[in-house]
Amino acid sequence: MRTRDWDEDEDSRAPGGTREKERALKEVRTIYRQADAAYVPFSCSASGECCQLATTGRQPWLWLPEWELLTKGRPLPPPRADGGCPYLDAAGKRCTVYADRPFGCRTFFCERIRGPARQPAETVGVLLERLERVSQSRDATLKAPRPLLEWHAEAIASAASRQTP
Ligand code: SF4
Repeated sequence: MRTRDWDEDEDSRAPGGTREKERALKEVRTIYRQADAAYVPFSCSASGECCQLATTGRQPWLWLPEWELLTKGRPLPPPRADGGCPYLDAAGKRCTVYADRPFGCRTFFCERIRGPARQPAETVGVLLERLERVSQSRDATLKAPRPLLEWHAEAIASAASRQTP
């Protein structure tokens, strides 16, 4: 199992290298904190049901630096047989990357959400625009976020191809 997804030496020499990447990840963390702050008045039952991606048919969509943050310094988990998010714990109940979970995981709430009548849609929109800008600074060719399972499958395939002699 890998512990990281990028060769840091190679990355630091590349355009948009390590320092830029770290700046981008810092901005993503700031955006995440602001999203969390916007949702302070709301609560959920933390059942983990929304992380059962195959069951719900929904999944978070991540911009590039979100995926980079999620995979930075941690092993790539294998896919789950039940189609749940690979970042769930073995029991399929708890997120193992809670501090770095994607924007979509912070701002998606099911109908059982408790709190004010209106969710902070304007704030979410502004923060999403900032995420897009950070992503563009990392790779201007990526015009849209991608589903978490797509990022994950690509990373798994890439790891497998590197291990093939
Ligand atoms: S990253 Fe965490 S919160 Fe988001 S879907 Fe996966 S397990 Fe759930």
